[in-house]
Amino acid sequence: MGSGQVTSTSAPLDLRGTHVTVAGLGVSGIPAAKVLHARGAVVTVVNDGDDDRAREQAAPLEALGITVRLGDGATLPEGTELIVTAPGWQPDKPLFRAAEQAGVPVWGDVELAWRLRGPGAAPWLAVTGTNGKTTTVQMLAAILKAAGLRTAAVGNIGVSLLDAVLGEEEYDVLAVELSSYQLHWAPSLRAHSAAVLNLAPDHLDWHGSMAAYAADKGRIYEGNQVACVYNVADRRTEDLVREADVEEGCRAVGFTLGTPAPSQLGVVEGILVDRAFVADRHKNAQELAEVADVDPPAPHNIANALAAAALARAFGVPAAAVREGLRNFRPDAHRIAHVADLDGVAYVDDSKATNTHAAEASLASYEPIVWIAGGLAKGATFGELVTRSAKRLRGAVLIGADRALIREALARHAPEVPVVDLDRTDTGAMLQAVTEAKRLAQPGDTVLLAPACASMDMFTNYNQRGDAFAAAVRELGA
Ligand code: ADP
Repeated sequence: MGSGQVTSTSAPLDLRGTHVTVAGLGVSGIPAAKVLHARGAVVTVVNDGDDDRAREQAAPLEALGITVRLGDGATLPEGTELIVTAPGWQPDKPLFRAAEQAGVPVWGDVELAWRLRGPGAAPWLAVTGTNGKTTTVQMLAAILKAAGLRTAAVGNIGVSLLDAVLGEEEYDVLAVELSSYQLHWAPSLRAHSAAVLNLAPDHLDWHGSMAAYAADKGRIYEGNQVACVYNVADRRTEDLVREADVEEGCRAVGFTLGTPAPSQLGVVEGILVDRAFVADRHKNAQELAEVADVDPPAPHNIANALAAAALARAFGVPAAAVREGLRNFRPDAHRIAHVADLDGVAYVDDSKATNTHAAEASLASYEPIVWIAGGLAKGATFGELVTRSAKRLRGAVLIGADRALIREALARHAPEVPVVDLDRTDTGAMLQAVTEAKRLAQPGDTVLLAPACASMDMFTNYNQRGDAFAAAVRELGA
């Protein structure tokens, strides 16, 4: 970080007269620009695009007296003392190289929210991971609420971080979802406790390498006060805890789907059990909830529940509130959502499984499966996923732009699995896909939409893809 008043961590943060450049007009840039302006900063917004939408977004900011430079996100405005960037802006952009040379610090939206917290602000319980963040943060918020705490699930979902930190509403504690991008740009964030759920290759084009991606995820543990929660089944998450610089007395707490060792949470005979936050963890265990309290009770989701429970327990939440919170929790749409049963076959929508790691978790939750997959692969390979899931597959129906990659993986690693390859990307394709899946399925099977790919080749987003699947199932059932 550079020098000057803006790097100081002492509250309250005084930005009056500071020249701040906001990088990116968008969901994080617009509110950031407004907040900075309201705090007396001299704000310039820079944006790569210069289209109608950008101009529309710029106008109200300009009316406030904020300078907006459209069509040039590369040049560092003269006199800039601080950059506040949209989290998605890649670190190797020329703007950031110029900032580094000039000794100008760069903060993301999370860093800004963290720095603007008032004295005595609510502590953060933070969650990251390749998959399961939203679900875990929502489970955590449900548990904290069941304990009578004033809280919210914030981050990519629900309340925005800036609103949570600066709004009227008072909180005792926040359940915060953080992406690897956000963590990259949040150097001084210090959570009460944090969890890394899992680590699989994702967004590597942005981070540059798996090591850089892992290092950015690992930042979530820096300065933790009470617990660094890791996944026993994923060594890399434990390694990140080991590498983190934490407050004295902060503990490493693992979660596992097996029997927990001391300092772990795990599962014993269908019961979620805590052997970390108990009086004598070498002798005692505390029952928290039943596997059946978790919706859906798929293995990866039990792992999410254990991680949420660990963070809540680190905050001192009693066991009964963990159970009540988990029972109150309902997953968001398109995350292993049971759509209907037709002729003894279950139809499940996991459209949110947009990468291979998520699809693997979903495929591990059922057997036998007729798998509907495909879309935009984002550089992924499918050999491992297919090898690990082959024995569960009754058949596969492939859709979307990059379906050939999955078809080739199936041909190589699971040649016995029947495959229907749908060569169309129009809106009617999903009905045909579900029709083909129905034809392949036998009573007791699950037809699972877990595409392992992004949706934008055929749909607006994963929500629309999941809705199309559900509509097709309903049509076939009518
Ligand atoms: P995120 O916010 O990280 O994208 P979500 O909670 O929205 O995560 O879940 C996204 C998808 O990831 C789900 O639809 C499911 O397929 C998968 N998933 C959820 N939790 C896990 C987990 N712990 N491990 C692997 N995959 C998971």
